[in-house]
Amino acid sequence: MRTSSPGSRLFRFVGAALLLASPLVTQAAVDNRLLANATAARSNLLKTLEQLVNVDSGTGNERGVDQVGSIVVDELRKLGATVEFVPSTPAVGNNIVATLTGSGKGRILLIAHMDTVFADGTAAARPFRVDGTRAYGPGVADDKSGLVVGLHALKLLQQSNFRNFARITVLLNTNEETGSDGTRSLIEAQARQHDVTLNLEPGRPADGLVVWRKGSGDILLEVRGKAAHAGVAPETGRNAAMEAAHQMLQLARLADSAKQTTVNFTVIKSGDRSNVIPDFATAEGDVRATTTAEFDRIEKELAVLSQQKLIADTEVKATLKRSFPPMPKNPLTDALADKAQAIYGELGRKLTLEGSGGAADSSFSAGVGIPTLDGFGLVGGNSHTAAEYVELDSIVPRLYLLTRFLMEVGPTGR
Ligand SMILES: [Zn+2]
Repeated sequence: MRTSSPGSRLFRFVGAALLLASPLVTQAAVDNRLLANATAARSNLLKTLEQLVNVDSGTGNERGVDQVGSIVVDELRKLGATVEFVPSTPAVGNNIVATLTGSGKGRILLIAHMDTVFADGTAAARPFRVDGTRAYGPGVADDKSGLVVGLHALKLLQQSNFRNFARITVLLNTNEETGSDGTRSLIEAQARQHDVTLNLEPGRPADGLVVWRKGSGDILLEVRGKAAHAGVAPETGRNAAMEAAHQMLQLARLADSAKQTTVNFTVIKSGDRSNVIPDFATAEGDVRATTTAEFDRIEKELAVLSQQKLIADTEVKATLKRSFPPMPKNPLTDALADKAQAIYGELGRKLTLEGSGGAADSSFSAGVGIPTLDGFGLVGGNSHTAAEYVELDSIVPRLYLLTRFLMEVGPTGR
């Protein structure tokens, strides 16, 4: 339609009107069969969730985490997964790596954790219960909801005879709640063998995914001074506490609010007698940043800035100890998040995309450069408290979301 007839002007007008209305026009059709299967899976998912919540599996409870693992593994084996148990030293219990192989190209890693923050006896004291639109119990959201959404999404894939993926691997961690010391290297090694990592932590209360996380580290400040009697000859001393106070104030300026980089000194130690000028002081500062470049900057500037002293003849050493790498937002994760939002849109729902200053297992997969999204479990909140809950109305949409997402990414890994 290249000539400019009145008719083509009309077409252009109609075309423009359609473009303006495009969110409605281009919304992909819902996969009705999958939605019906997800709806039918709801009660089974709740049964599995009840079973898992009623097993105490606080980090360090070897029998508990292994029992949770065996309930999930039995189901994964029925789906044809090959299962490997990997000891989680220095933590207890076995991490689990379960693999399904298909006929496509995409390699997807799903991560969830089996441990909770709750002491033995909690499950008996306040077992799984449903009240109104929510279910309650220890770990019901964090992260037993992730275990059941992952498991049942794989069941739905099988029901749909969907095998257009190279590999879907489920990695179940025994010690997430204490920092994953016994699983970090396994997560990193597995992530490197996959195109995408999805962490099945609970969905945010506003029905969100987590698309970026800050990394974390600590500034370790050590000051050596010279002791002296605070009454008789204070001028002969070199006050390490005063130098540390100066250092904390100046080093805190390494924060950059425009880049969301924070530096907060939190632990201070110095002296043990009020009448002695202290000859030592230490301080620790919590550092959070959204990019590795920011940690590099802080490490470099720290070394230089800390040599600007208040008190001559003190010795100052300031170093950065890095712990969790950042899970940065980037074009690859943006594209994946767009995909997830489009899928949720098929249900007429809006998926919020959020960030967090806290680290998680997804930080480890992102840290080795693998695109990672987080928050694919059920929508829930109040984690780590007795008021922890999941929203029952999120079961069907969240099952649909993860299953359709696997179908979208499975063929290519993108
Ligand atoms: Zn968790």
